[in-house]
Amino acid sequence: MNQPIFTNSKYAIVGAGLMGRLLAVALAQRGAQVDLFDKGDSAASGAAARIAAAMLAPLAESAITEDSVVRMGIHSLPRWKDLISALSKPVFFQQDGTLILWHRQDASEAERFSNHLEKNCRHNPQLTAPIKLNASDLAQIEPGVADRFMQALYLPNEGQLDNRQLLDALLHELITLKVNCHWNTAAEPEQLRKNGPYQSVIDCRGHGAKEAWLSTSNKLRGVRGEVVRLYAPEVKLRRPTRLIHPRYPIYIAPKENDIYVVGATEIESDDLSEMSLRSAMELLSAVYTVHSGFAEARILEMATQCRPTLKNNLPEIRIQKDKGLSDLIMVNGLYRHGFMISPAILDSSLEVLEFGQSNTALELGLSITSNLGTTNNHEASLCA
Ligand SMILES: Cc1cc2nc3c(=O)[nH]c(=O)nc-3n(C[C@H](O)[C@H](O)[C@H](O)COP(=O)(O)OP(=O)(O)OC[C@H]3O[C@@H](n4cnc5c(N)ncnc54)[C@H](O)[C@@H]3O)c2cc1C
Repeated sequence: MNQPIFTNSKYAIVGAGLMGRLLAVALAQRGAQVDLFDKGDSAASGAAARIAAAMLAPLAESAITEDSVVRMGIHSLPRWKDLISALSKPVFFQQDGTLILWHRQDASEAERFSNHLEKNCRHNPQLTAPIKLNASDLAQIEPGVADRFMQALYLPNEGQLDNRQLLDALLHELITLKVNCHWNTAAEPEQLRKNGPYQSVIDCRGHGAKEAWLSTSNKLRGVRGEVVRLYAPEVKLRRPTRLIHPRYPIYIAPKENDIYVVGATEIESDDLSEMSLRSAMELLSAVYTVHSGFAEARILEMATQCRPTLKNNLPEIRIQKDKGLSDLIMVNGLYRHGFMISPAILDSSLEVLEFGQSNTALELGLSITSNLGTTNNHEASLCA
């Protein structure tokens, strides 16, 4: 049961994608009055959160990210269970591991990947070591791919959720909790700080906050990602599966009702235009090499979004205090790990709002910067 610690507080949140919705619900559950603004509709059509695969894979991601992000991911897995169980609408959540596959010619790449993960497990005892599967283990764990692959790597503790069900369930909660939602309303946090009766204005605009980060040393950019959503009743994959490939690494995230999310490109660009033909061909050819049942799949959607990414590829909470204005809290840089780490960022943000600092952020290595209320805009890092 959440304590009503924010009664008599009023907050504005700009951006109702992943972080904005989570924060709005959490604050309203704790007694706050919340005004929530999004330039898009209530289905989060303009959010990266809507098209993401929503895999929760700290060990797999440890191959390409920093230990702090991995620790945020480990913190977040059990927190997702709590957060989802407190919602009144069901959200598909699964923790049956990640499967890593490769074709025979890519065995040396797979070996390197496996060694990398094992090294990360030795450094971080909270991670569970990957398990090498032979053909008969693979036939037991994931029979749908056993005719094409003779070995695999299994990362047992990883999970995924259904992002669209989550966004919808959070929307339902916003309505129940009487959060004042302003859809199709582009808002400017600095204006709300001046004119609004808010304790704090929280900027959760993701990629849309690019301008606001220009004045900081940690600039925000978009990293374009393209995904395909397939309906493939002939394919029976039980868990998120990644294909190691030197040029076309892909993942396949199986959702309920034979829906598969296949992704994703990773292109240094703010371009939000439709998927390119090259990306479509690469994703679709690669997915067909994993399971022949994809040949008869129906293409439901090809989608593009930009992952909100700070210069150092790490998330950050930035506090701006100025005399006569509401505090500004900027939460951004969730990059390709938003679902994996957002409960950790949520917990840290709530502590910042309550106490002005966060022990959770300190423990996990989440960066919180502040101008400390000075007029010379002096930046101080509150944690490593
Ligand atoms: C292809 C792809 C695959 C991904 N897969 C995964 C995955 O498997 N696992 C994982 O953990 N993460 C994944 N991610 C990352 C994850 O989706 C993001 O990190 C996360 O959505 C970022 O959350 P956010 O709330 O900061 O931004 P968003 O979810 O993008 O929300 C930002 C919101 O702000 C609104 N907004 C913008 N400007 C304004 C304005 N001026 N006024 C009002 N509203 C505004 C937008 O309309 C939007 O609704 C993926 C991302 C992509 C693109």
